[in-house]
Amino acid sequence: MNKKKYPFPWHYFIREIQSRFFYIVVTAIGIYLVANFTNNSPYLNEIILILSLLAISILFTLNRILPFRKILNRIEVIQEKLPYDKKLDLIYQKNEWNLLEEILSLTETNLDEQSEKLQTQDQESWTLLESIPSGLIIIDKFQNCKKFNSYFFNHFISNKKVSLVENIKLWKVFSNDDLLSAFTKVISDKKVEKLEGFFIPEKNQYYDIAITPLFDSKTEIIGAIGIFHNVTNSKLTEKMRVDFVANVSHEIKTPLTSIKGYSQLLQAQNLDSDTKLLSDKIISNAERLHDLFESLLKLSVLESKRDIKIETINFEDLVKKILGLINGKYLDKEVHLNTQFSIHHIQADIKLIEQVFTNLFDNSIKYGKESIDITIELDDLENHYRIKFSDNGPGISQEDLNRIFERFYRVQEKSDSPIEGSGLGLSIVKHIINKHNGQILVESSFGQGTTFIIELPKL
Ligand code: ADP
Repeated sequence: MNKKKYPFPWHYFIREIQSRFFYIVVTAIGIYLVANFTNNSPYLNEIILILSLLAISILFTLNRILPFRKILNRIEVIQEKLPYDKKLDLIYQKNEWNLLEEILSLTETNLDEQSEKLQTQDQESWTLLESIPSGLIIIDKFQNCKKFNSYFFNHFISNKKVSLVENIKLWKVFSNDDLLSAFTKVISDKKVEKLEGFFIPEKNQYYDIAITPLFDSKTEIIGAIGIFHNVTNSKLTEKMRVDFVANVSHEIKTPLTSIKGYSQLLQAQNLDSDTKLLSDKIISNAERLHDLFESLLKLSVLESKRDIKIETINFEDLVKKILGLINGKYLDKEVHLNTQFSIHHIQADIKLIEQVFTNLFDNSIKYGKESIDITIELDDLENHYRIKFSDNGPGISQEDLNRIFERFYRVQEKSDSPIEGSGLGLSIVKHIINKHNGQILVESSFGQGTTFIIELPKL
């Protein structure tokens, strides 16, 4: 071990010399004055001798008093830091040595208490870390693994050929670049990072990972804490559910297409009016079922989609294309589109954004009267794009506004010929916006039209 080198305490040395010099000068002046005043004294030599001895003894005393005074000053400082019930009786102090002994024994007791407290705290926090049913690791800012609980050790370290004697580097535990750079990012940005459903190939398991920066008492970053929560079971169950819905929807669509096809074939025959009415109903219900399963399929594909493909989109072109396609579906309605774009391009997943505006246009036209005004505004804000999509349709009551993004939620209609729908359109919209880490809000009141406000983060 290297011995620590302390610098020579020059300031203390100079102060000592100064104080002694002061006393010697005072004594010399005293001797000189006495010698002058007692010029005729027969005891002049004795007086000089006594004064010299006095000066020497002052020097010796000084030698002891000065450091002792410093100790007493320190005691005063410690005294101020002591809790009220442990304060020493300094004002009426009898003997400084007693005081010194008292403060030393008190400090010793305090030290014992403190170290016992620290040990208990350490034990408590360790038990806490051990009781968490997730992996926990603390690293320093150089990516050395400083502490981990048994869960983490058993799951991520025990099977690796690493020495536990020295600090293990994080990259010896994980080989995944995304995971390692998430830790690096937390230390450089000093912000929490979350990885949801992160797949760790070595373990063949999914984890929700939260990485939090670790600061010292001066708020300097000293490392990071990573918590690894195994979500493999819920992830697999979720995947099974999504796959099931996707398979069922897919399988059902084929016979439905047949039913619709055969019913249309039937209609080509010379049917009487009653049978024609029945076959019309079969066709329209087969179409409804087809649309419902189509939406379910879209939703489950969205849920199983892990990544989205962000690209630059010409927004105006996209909007016009969608409106052109939808117009063909509602030949009896007239749509007036008004656009106010402060920029022309946005960055998003084109397929998904197309779905969002298809659903919004579809609703506005479907629920609107014969002549529908739709206004779309696109604004470039500091961190995100804001798109406002407004129509002059029937609006949505406050009560329903809170629920329209829920799956299968449909506003109860009072009309005799209710408008068909699955209640899935807006939940698909919301899901897509969430996938982009954006948000969607809706403003409306009954009879006043509806405005959807979409905020998409910029890359
Ligand atoms: P769907 O249209 O298939 O019923 P959505 O999830 O798209 O399902 O919409 C949920 C409900 O919100 C609809 O039933 C409708 O009542 C209401 N809604 C959605 N968009 C509009 C709109 N532009 N104007 C009026 N009501 C709307």
